[in-house]
Amino acid sequence: MIKTDTAILGAGASGLFLAKFMKNSDYILVDKSEIPLKLKVSGGGKCNFTNEYISKENYLYRDDFVQKVLSFYTNRELLRFFKDIGYQKVKNNQYFAYSSDDVIKKLNQKKFIADIEDVEKSKDIFRIQTSKGVIMAKRVVVATGGLSYKKLGATDTGYKIAKKFGHDITPLKPALVGLSLQKEQFWMKRLSGVCFRAKVSVANKSFCDDILFSHRGVTGPAILNASLYWDRGDVKIDFLPDFHAFNSKKALSNALPLPKRFIVEFLKANSLEDKPLNSSKKALELLKSYKFAPAGNFGYDKAEVTKGGVKLKELDDFESKFEKSLYFIGEVLETTGELGGYNLQWCFSSAKYLAAKLSNSKKERR
Ligand SMILES: Cc1cc2nc3c(=O)[nH]c(=O)nc-3n(C[C@H](O)[C@H](O)[C@H](O)COP(=O)(O)OP(=O)(O)OC[C@H]3O[C@@H](n4cnc5c(N)ncnc54)[C@H](O)[C@@H]3O)c2cc1C
Repeated sequence: MIKTDTAILGAGASGLFLAKFMKNSDYILVDKSEIPLKLKVSGGGKCNFTNEYISKENYLYRDDFVQKVLSFYTNRELLRFFKDIGYQKVKNNQYFAYSSDDVIKKLNQKKFIADIEDVEKSKDIFRIQTSKGVIMAKRVVVATGGLSYKKLGATDTGYKIAKKFGHDITPLKPALVGLSLQKEQFWMKRLSGVCFRAKVSVANKSFCDDILFSHRGVTGPAILNASLYWDRGDVKIDFLPDFHAFNSKKALSNALPLPKRFIVEFLKANSLEDKPLNSSKKALELLKSYKFAPAGNFGYDKAEVTKGGVKLKELDDFESKFEKSLYFIGEVLETTGELGGYNLQWCFSSAKYLAAKLSNSKKERR
């Protein structure tokens, strides 16, 4: 049996970052995997760890506490933290490392490799049952992440622990994921591989970026972002976000800055003809404001994140309001960010915020 002050459950982005700042503390970091697999594949192996512009507006399920946490440990501080491994700023103000292996090396910690099976509490001590024996801890931090990408080790362990201690979970859904189609939009499937810039709007959010048609539906960064805010109902696409109608006798397929393949399928699907631009008002209006109701999404196997999770309002500075000394950080929380480094920034900010809180409470106890 292992006895410790703090058991950090999960050594992904948030668990590793917390451990990094648990200086002079007695803690154990538990994970079934030696390598933080999601961190490794993140940003296509280059780990898009933050963005130039970060605010709570980039997150679903946000409140003033989310802003407080993001302001407590900002993108600037994170950039300073990663300064020695180097990074580059690319399109959409995203910051990427040169390799996620550099990030992992920088964060790496000693781990206890085991499956976390159950957590119980009696007489102020948590009993964590693992595949390699029992850990007794005065504090537990749940950093076991979300449900997406099971093949990278995702489990529902964190949600199960939360429920066991009386927490309600905001409904869980795949997010930052492609959208599947209803029959009326199957014409898009014939465009598999076609990619261009469009403006995608859902609820009161709009994203101007690439969309990519695939054999399953429609994806690409603008769609992935829209999927965060979409639950059901219409998504609107402006296929011509940078185009201002001009007077031309050229046929639509020659006049518009869109792939020909797309125009042909679009016109066919909407029973329109490839007429001169200046007599194609209806087609132009439809291209500027195409509404459709997706059938669903590509599922957890393709989703970068899980939206929903442990409710912030049931926590006080990440500590459970129902069970003293039980904490949650990272993706297991309901707060979910847009594409562009927002999710890792949230993991790091929440971890750093908690590290400061725990070290303050240690000082107070002395
Ligand atoms: C393909 C992909 C690309 C992404 N790219 C980016 C990006 O570029 N930028 C960005 O901001 N976000 C990105 N994300 C999202 C980001 O990686 C996650 O939001 C982030 O890793 C979540 O961190 P976490 O620490 O909360 O959980 P995780 O990183 O998922 O870590 C949880 C850990 O808990 C362990 N664990 C879970 N259950 C158990 C158990 N029962 N027993 C033992 N161990 C357990 C897991 O092994 C894992 O190591 C990407 C996600 C994916 C899937």
